Amino acid sequence: MKYFKKELLKKHTSFKIGGPAECYCTVKTIEDVKQALKYANDKKMAVSVIGAGTNLLISDDGIKGLVINISRGLNGIKIEDDKIVVGSGVMLQRLIRFAAKKSLGGLEFLAGVPGSVGGAILMNAGAWGKTIGKYVKSVKVLDHNGNEKIILRKDMGFAYRKSILQGVEQIVVEVVLKLRKMKKKTIEQKIAEFVGKRKNRHPLGSPNCGSVFKNPEGKIAAILIEDAGCKGMRIGDAQVSMKHANFIVNLGDAKASDVVKLITVVQGKVKTKHRIKLEPEVKIMVESKT
Ligand SMILES: Cc1cc2nc3c(=O)[nH]c(=O)nc-3n(C[C@H](O)[C@H](O)[C@H](O)COP(=O)(O)OP(=O)(O)OC[C@H]3O[C@@H](n4cnc5c(N)ncnc54)[C@H](O)[C@@H]3O)c2cc1C
Repeated sequence: MKYFKKELLKKHTSFKIGGPAECYCTVKTIEDVKQALKYANDKKMAVSVIGAGTNLLISDDGIKGLVINISRGLNGIKIEDDKIVVGSGVMLQRLIRFAAKKSLGGLEFLAGVPGSVGGAILMNAGAWGKTIGKYVKSVKVLDHNGNEKIILRKDMGFAYRKSILQGVEQIVVEVVLKLRKMKKKTIEQKIAEFVGKRKNRHPLGSPNCGSVFKNPEGKIAAILIEDAGCKGMRIGDAQVSMKHANFIVNLGDAKASDVVKLITVVQGKVKTKHRIKLEPEVKIMVESKT
């Protein structure tokens, strides 16, 4: 295992923002994760976990302790009856393509959502009214001492962009998903449809972190933001997207501090106009935690 000092985390986020990790490593297997945890414990370093970095805003000052990047490994994927057993480092798009090949459907709504399976489970990623949590049978996690545990779906606390794993020291290493037999052609058609819808709506040309805010109950954050006059608003190189108001795009050299300021301004304007406090969906990482 190799450990790197001062690895720039902007290289590992879709926003292209983030300072250095005090210490950084990638892992290939569950044993590697355990080894990395032991290394951090021996050195009394805090541990943070990142996946593909597509839902992350990392501080310009970086992260203290060890940052473990899961998305370069833990990439096993296999079928057991109508279930898929998948490593948490597998990219969602690979998972969906794999399932389609095996005529297993259900996850097409995630077509075009970037990120790893681990990040998607932690966030209960979803789109078009559906979420991944519905298809989960169980999740294998490690605590920061390297102890394994299996959590059944009923105990995962899945809700809108929420799971029980947020803010606790548990690392997702493997997930069992239950899908349903479907015609391969139907699955592929649905995938193409969902990808097309995304291309038309999202600003895919500039670095971003997907939706910045959660949709408040019964409302659409993008519409509230647009109505509050925030579309195109800019601080430094961070700008509220002209194409989709719930995206902030990095026009070149945006700092995390610019994005945080912009988030605060947007929240203020929406509060004034609509009396609604927008809650960030993006995970803001300023200190070490999973
Ligand atoms: C263009 C674009 C479009 C998007 N569209 C959607 C969408 O439609 N729906 C949606 O839900 N999301 C969307 N997202 C956000 C993002 O893709 C998802 O939230 C994704 O599931 C995050 O996965 P990740 O691997 O990138 O996680 P990261 O961003 O790396 O991490 C997110 C959080 O999960 C934690 N984490 C990551 N891996 C693990 C692990 N193995 N164990 C424990 N904790 C872990 C991190 O510590 C962090 O708190 C979009 C993002 C972009 C850039």
